[in-house]
Amino acid sequence: MKSLPKREQVKVEETWNLKTLFENDSAYQQAVQEAEADSATFAKHYRGTIKDAASAIKALDAYRSLQEKMTKIGSYAELAASIDLTDDEAQMRESQYGSIAAKIGSQTSFVMSELSELPEEVLQQASEQSEDYAVTFEKIIRKKPYQLHPEVEKTLAAFSSTFQAPYTLYNTTKMADINFPNFTVNGVDYPLSYVSFEGVWESEPDTAKRRAAFQTFSGKLREYQHTTAKTYDMHVQMEKTTADLRGYKSVIDYLLMDQDVDRSMYNRQIDVIMEELAPHMRKYAKLLQKIYGLEEMTFADLKMPIDPLYEPSITVEESKTYMNDALAVMGEDYLDMVNRAFSERWIDFAQNEGKSTGAFCASPYRGGSFILISWTGSMEDVFVLAHELGHAGHFYHANQEQNLFNYEASLYFIEAPSTMNEMLMANHLLKNSEDPKFKRWVLSSIVSRTYYHNFVTHLLEAAFQRKVYERVDAGGNVNAIILNELKRGVLEEFWGDTVTLNEGAELTWMRQPHYYMGLYPYTYSAGLTVSTEMAQRVLKEGDPAVKDWLNVLSAGGSKNPAELANMAGIDITTDKPLRDTIAYIGDLIEQIEKLTEEIEAQ
Ligand SMILES: [Zn+2]
Repeated sequence: MKSLPKREQVKVEETWNLKTLFENDSAYQQAVQEAEADSATFAKHYRGTIKDAASAIKALDAYRSLQEKMTKIGSYAELAASIDLTDDEAQMRESQYGSIAAKIGSQTSFVMSELSELPEEVLQQASEQSEDYAVTFEKIIRKKPYQLHPEVEKTLAAFSSTFQAPYTLYNTTKMADINFPNFTVNGVDYPLSYVSFEGVWESEPDTAKRRAAFQTFSGKLREYQHTTAKTYDMHVQMEKTTADLRGYKSVIDYLLMDQDVDRSMYNRQIDVIMEELAPHMRKYAKLLQKIYGLEEMTFADLKMPIDPLYEPSITVEESKTYMNDALAVMGEDYLDMVNRAFSERWIDFAQNEGKSTGAFCASPYRGGSFILISWTGSMEDVFVLAHELGHAGHFYHANQEQNLFNYEASLYFIEAPSTMNEMLMANHLLKNSEDPKFKRWVLSSIVSRTYYHNFVTHLLEAAFQRKVYERVDAGGNVNAIILNELKRGVLEEFWGDTVTLNEGAELTWMRQPHYYMGLYPYTYSAGLTVSTEMAQRVLKEGDPAVKDWLNVLSAGGSKNPAELANMAGIDITTDKPLRDTIAYIGDLIEQIEKLTEEIEAQ
C-alpha cells in the first residue's frame, strides 16, 4: 500500500464538481458580498415590522430567499475545505464563512425573536393562512417558551461561529496534527492514516497486521487524548449552558427539541439494543473467532470479514452497475438521479492526503448533492455509496416538494432513506446468490457492515454519549480519564466476556465527529429500524411499498418522525419495529452459522 497522494495529484474524474455551486473563488466572493448587502437591506426593511400574521409571512418570504443564498455559500466553503485539510486557502475561506454567517445570523436574529414574541393565536392564524410556512409557525410555537430576550438572541447568534470552535478544533487535532507512524510486522513497514486504518487495516484478515495496526493507531491517538477530551468537554458544557439559559430541565431535552422526538423514543433505542441485541452480537463474535481459529477474540478483531476469500475488489465503474441493479426497484426517476450522480460528478471518490474521513452527502437546498467518500474498492464502499445516494435521493425528492424551512427531515429520520438503500443493496445481492459461500458472504456483509455500523458502532457511541450528558446534566465535567472509563464501561456491558478489550479500545470516543452534532449517534439505529421494516415491505409488496416510500422522501421535514414512519405503515411510537429488527438481525446471524456448518462439512 502506497501513502496517499496530494489533492492536486488526483484524477479530475474522481473528484466532485463544485463549479455547479460557484464557478470559481471570485464568483464565490461576489456572492458573499451580495449576501452581506442583502442581509443589511433585509434588516433595515423588516426589523420591528413583524406585528401580525400578514407581516410575519412577508418577513419569512424575504428571510427565506436570503437563507437560500447562504446555504449555497456555506456548502461551497465547507465542501471545498473538507477535501483537503492541508489546503490553507480553503481552510481560511471556511473560517471566514463562519464569521460572515455569524454576523448575518446576528443581524437577522430579530426575525425569530419577533416571531416568537407574537401571541400564540397570531402564530396559529399565520400558520392557517400560509400553507408554505404552516410547519415553520408550528415549530415557532413549540419553541416559544425557550426563546430568550431579543438582545440575548442577537448576542448568542453573534457568537455562533465561536460556538463551532470545539468541532473545528477537534478536526484540526485529528486531521492536521496527528501524524501516524508506520507500523511494522515481520520487518516490513506499513503506512498508517485515519483513512487507511478505518478503510483497510481495521478489517485486515491477517491477524498480526490487523492487531499491529490497531496498537500503533491507538498509541498515537493516546498522545492527543487530553486535548481531545478538553475540546469535547468545552462543547458539551456550552450545550449545557445553552440548555440552562433557555430553561430546559436537561441538556438531552434541549437536544431532542429540534428532532421532534420525545425521551422515550430516544431511550428505547439505546436501552433495548444494549440489552437485546448484545446476545446476538456476542454469538456473531464467537463465530468469527471460530472461523479464524483465534485463541482470544479481541476488540481489534471485530471488523474482520467472515470470509476474506470472497472479498471482491470493486472499481468505481463497477460500483455504478451495483447501484443501478440494486436501486432499480425505486423506479426510473430515482435511477436517473443515481446515474446523474456519476455522469455529473456529484461524487468525490479520490483518496488523498488531508481529506475528511468517512463519508457524507451534503445537499444545499436546490443546489444538487455532493457525496464525499474515499474509494478503497471494498464491498463496504459499495454499501456506503448506496447509503450516501440514499441521502441524495431523499433531498432530491424533498427539494422538489418542500421549501427551505421544511426540506430537511428530523435527525431521527435522516438515516432512514440512506440505510434503506443499504437494505436494497443487500436484498439485491441476496437474490442473486445460490452458492452457500456466496450467500454467507452476502449475509455477513449485511451483519458486519450495515447492522454493525448502525446498530453497534453508532449505538455504542450513543450509549456512551448519554452517559456523558447525564454527567453534564448533574453538573459534572469530563476529561480523558473519565471518557475512557465511560467508553470502556459501555463496551464491556455490550460484549461481556466474549470480547477482550485491547489496550486502546477505550479511546474509540476520540474517533467520532458525531459527538459535536448533538444526539446524532442513536439516530442511525432509529433510521435503520424504519428502513428494515420498509425493505421487508418492498420485498413483499413491491410497487405500492415503493410508492409509499417515495412519498415519505418527498415529505422531507414537513412532518415529524413518527408521522413520516406512519406514512410508510410503520408505528415507531411502539417498540415493535425495533424488536422486529433485532429479531431479523438474530435470524441473519443464525443463517450465517448454519451456512458455516454446511461449508465446513463440504
Ligand atoms: Zn448517513
